[in-house]
Amino acid sequence: MHTTATDGTATISEMILAAKSRGLKYIAITDHSKRVSMANGLDADRLRLHWQEIDKVRGQFSGIEVLRGIECDILEDGTLDLDDQVLSEADWVIAVLHYGLRQPQEQIDLRLLNAIRNPHVSIIGHPSARIINKRPPVAWSFETILKSAAEHGVMMEINASYQRLDLDDIQAAAARDLGIPIVISTDAHSTGGLDGMEYGVYQARRAGLTKAEVANTWPFEDFRNRIRGKSPSRST
Ligand SMILES: [Zn+2]
Repeated sequence: MHTTATDGTATISEMILAAKSRGLKYIAITDHSKRVSMANGLDADRLRLHWQEIDKVRGQFSGIEVLRGIECDILEDGTLDLDDQVLSEADWVIAVLHYGLRQPQEQIDLRLLNAIRNPHVSIIGHPSARIINKRPPVAWSFETILKSAAEHGVMMEINASYQRLDLDDIQAAAARDLGIPIVISTDAHSTGGLDGMEYGVYQARRAGLTKAEVANTWPFEDFRNRIRGKSPSRST
């Protein structure tokens, strides 16, 4: 979810409060990286300050875990918008395509594969980048991409925004068949945006997913231990 640090309309504490009031046990704050300049995206310095603020605010709440995350752009050339050092300091890194969406399939695949190979990337967000009735999905060979995600321990998102619903049902089922944990994300830009979760659940059901196959239904410890590079056995 987003906050006023970039293009959200609610502050960190308002989002935490709204999440708590909806019974959520954990959330990830994932504002934009700098490439999304129209959303006032964060560079490394501002991101670290934002995380300090999250640290301070989350300490004021009990009964909910708050991950310090980032929605990091995968640039047109396949590199990430932020460097490895700052990404390594995140609890949760969503890598996404926002620009260069009309590139040929080879280049889109290369970008997604590069992101998946980066050891700090936790998940690919709204993987096809479609906007329903407005923008077609990128040209991507989703089977190749999903196979690579499975190999590298990268999760895949069902973005619950009713304009996205991305992964679609076929792709989400294919990801599930490869054992990839699916996360249903609201991508909320306001407190009310958290209510969009419902549409992501419908999309997951349409794909035939069960609760156990949706990672953010798991207890927080189990979820955190499955984040690539963050499990206790692998962090030493
Ligand atoms: Zn996005």
